[in-house]
Parts: sequence; C-alpha cells; structure tokens
Amino acid sequence: MTAVRTAEDLEKLAEGAGRDLEEASAPEILQWAAETFGDRFCVTSSMEDAVVAHLASRARPGVDVVFLDTGYHFPETLGTRDAVDAVLDVNVVTLTPRQTVAQQDAQYGPKLHDRDPDLCCTLRKVQPLEAGLAGYDAWATGLRRDESPTRAGTPVVGWDPKRQKVKVSPIARWSADDVAQYVAAHGVLTNPLLDDGYASVGCAPCTRRVLAGEDARAGRWSGTGKTECGLHL
Ligand code: SF4
Repeated sequence: MTAVRTAEDLEKLAEGAGRDLEEASAPEILQWAAETFGDRFCVTSSMEDAVVAHLASRARPGVDVVFLDTGYHFPETLGTRDAVDAVLDVNVVTLTPRQTVAQQDAQYGPKLHDRDPDLCCTLRKVQPLEAGLAGYDAWATGLRRDESPTRAGTPVVGWDPKRQKVKVSPIARWSADDVAQYVAAHGVLTNPLLDDGYASVGCAPCTRRVLAGEDARAGRWSGTGKTECGLHL
C-alpha cells in the first residue's frame, strides 16, 4: 500500500513535477506517476482511444482505468471499454451516476442535456468522478494542448485544487499526428467512431461529426457555447 500524503504535500509534488517533467516523454511521466503514487494512481478514459491506458499499463501493469458510464454513451464507446478491459493489462473501473437516466428524467424532465447540459454533466460526470477519485492521490488524463484553446495551457503534471489531486496529462505535448503514430505503432484500440467522422467522442446526444477545418472538439455540445463537461475545469 502506498502512503497517504497530505494535500499540501501533493500540491508541492505536483508543482515540482510539472516543472521537472515538462520535457519528459509520456512513458517517463507515467513511470514517475506509477512509482510516486502506486495504487493511489489511476487513469481516466473516455474510451475515445486507449493510448493513455496502453502507456500506463506499461508503467504499472494492472493500473486502474476509470470510465464514467453516463448512460448516454454510443454503443461503440461501451464496446471500446469492454475491449480495453479484455486486451490490456489494466483494471477497468466503471463509475455510474447516482440516478439512472430514467430516474433523472423523472426528477428533472426528459432531455436535461438539451435544456441544462451543465447540470446534466454535473450529475452524470462530475459528481460520479469526484466520488470515484476519493481513493486516489493522482489521476491521469488524455488531455492535449492542441485539442482546443481551453486546453492549450495543460501542464504535464499539475495540481487540481477542486479535487485536491495531482492531475497527470502525459500526452499534453502530443499532436494528433503523435497519437495516430502511437496507435499505428502499437496497435492500440480506438473507438470506431473516430473512423466515422467523429474527432472527439462524448455522450451521444451531445456529440456530432466534425466538418473540415473544425478543431477536434467542435463536435461536442455544438451550438451551445459549452466546451467542457466540467471534469477539466
Ligand atoms: Fe449529459 Fe451531454 Fe453532459 Fe453527457 S455530455 S452528461 S448527455 S450534458
């Protein structure tokens, strides 16, 4: 078991590592996270692809890969989750919201995602993740700086003050081409929707295919002004 650290210690660790590891490779960053946090480290994945899960499984075989099942995912996304669980040396942990979609519809009315997507994301993503991360000191994400202006300043290791956790983004400096090369070189699982016009895969009601010239996240909450679900704010 890995020792439990105070939030103050974790924040200092994050700040130092963010500086020291800025030029490090993704495997080096994940090796540091695995050695530093042990079983108090996990990967979160939207199952758009398994790049970070693949990288992390090499640094820490059997690493927990946390997936938020909002109840609104494309079947392809759930299939990717099941394939990742079967193929990689990881432990997929599926988190679910407190309410089913039917229970949420009964309390808030149907299609909350159309009327108040911030509340829907809070109920179905943010709250379950915060509960699910309780047993970890650090979590890894697949955020990349080139995905959107809101992600351009993503540190490779940073402090998440909202959740009091270390946030590790080992591929923050990667481009879309770097991801494609890694996928091709290692035969990494990807969501089939990426070959069907989708550049970023989220919940089905809030995701559309992207058009030529749009950035990768333009198909998420299109036309609403919303750009993030709240997990990375
Ligand atoms: Fe709800 Fe859409 Fe957010 Fe999914 S992405 S939790 S459906 S608002």
